[in-house]
Amino acid sequence: MKVLVIGTGAREHALCRSLSQDPAVSELHCAPGNAGIARVATLHPVDQLDGDAVTALARELGADLVVVGPEAPLVAGVAEPLRAAGIPVFGPGKEAARLEGSKAFAKDVMAAAGVPTARSYVCTTEQEAAEALDAFGAPYVVKDDGLAAGKGVVVTEDRAAALEHAVACGRVVIEEYLDGPEVSLFAITDGTTVLPLVPAQDFKRALDGDQGPNTGGMGAYSPLPWAPEGLVAEVLESVLQPTVDELRHRGTPFSGLLYAGLALTSRGTRVIEFNARFGDPETQVVLARLRTPLAGVLLAAANGTLGELEPLRWSDEAAVTVVMASEGYPASPRTGDPIEGLDAAEADGTAFVLHAGTAPGPDGAVLTAGGRVLSVTAVGADLAEARARAYAGVAEISFKGAQHRTDIAAGAAR
Ligand code: AMP
Repeated sequence: MKVLVIGTGAREHALCRSLSQDPAVSELHCAPGNAGIARVATLHPVDQLDGDAVTALARELGADLVVVGPEAPLVAGVAEPLRAAGIPVFGPGKEAARLEGSKAFAKDVMAAAGVPTARSYVCTTEQEAAEALDAFGAPYVVKDDGLAAGKGVVVTEDRAAALEHAVACGRVVIEEYLDGPEVSLFAITDGTTVLPLVPAQDFKRALDGDQGPNTGGMGAYSPLPWAPEGLVAEVLESVLQPTVDELRHRGTPFSGLLYAGLALTSRGTRVIEFNARFGDPETQVVLARLRTPLAGVLLAAANGTLGELEPLRWSDEAAVTVVMASEGYPASPRTGDPIEGLDAAEADGTAFVLHAGTAPGPDGAVLTAGGRVLSVTAVGADLAEARARAYAGVAEISFKGAQHRTDIAAGAAR
């Protein structure tokens, strides 16, 4: 099978790593990719938002499957020309991707499907926003309606800051605050059959102890020893299947990866958000535990044959990933610094490095090229061992101003 992966981040590196280990994959390509992906796939400098260019590349390569990693190309409609050309594609079309592309659309789908989520108002004026903030009270939750790379959400006790964010965004969803631990649950679907993956937890805030601004994600772990038994079955029944059914009934079936961000509140499980693609950094730990070869699963989702697939097989081991970000992330990341210690981090074979914002430099050097620079992932017999191994890898890597959280999975590993 020839597979083309679209994207540039650590999620795509994780996908490429798993695909490269799948004996069914004979050729692996990535567009545009990054310095780490180049080690397992052939890179192509194609604009990931240009559906025609991606389709032309897929045709030229004779790709049997195209896997679209990030949300931006999905929301931009990159899947459509690929499907029109008869090329199997893993990832929803533009309409279904609005589940992530518009928070207001997601709320509408959830209401129609009876999916439990926070009560909310869609607001477009300062007055509407002020009224919604006062209706719910503090802590205030204000979400940019559109795509914001995980950074469009402000959760604050400060009413003025909440209102300022609402005004700056224009169109926002203001919702009730959900208390309780968060879980990310991914499901692979072909638009009808839904296969949940294993739950993971990510760490959205920049600093230890969940302090600092929201980021794209600073680390993740799986499994969740504290999660209630039966959680996956409950979320499949109350969230994932009804959502997939609702979109199919609307004539815009969702195939690809449906990501449910959940809060386990005292009043039950609630959806915080949907995403239309694998989450980064949870993908790193979820795929590290997947034993079933990945390509066949993604192809079955693309071809509408997931119902015929054997149940997915999982490792009992635990996985932890720690993101290393550049100085100034998320506000104003510094780039262009050489990264040292990449080989040393993988030397003992227990941890692996997945690249995100990296670029090749002179003489084989690898330079920082984005906010989240890379992630170090490790598996172990339990979370404590996986965590120790991941942090041992992190300790080997250095670049100017590097930052990472030191408490990823710390609470759960105790
Ligand atoms: P989102 O981009 O919607 O996942 O939001 C980013 C983060 O903001 C989430 O992971 C939560 O930590 C937080 N958040 C979003 N919505 C709520 C809510 N209704 N109540 C509490 N926290 C929230």
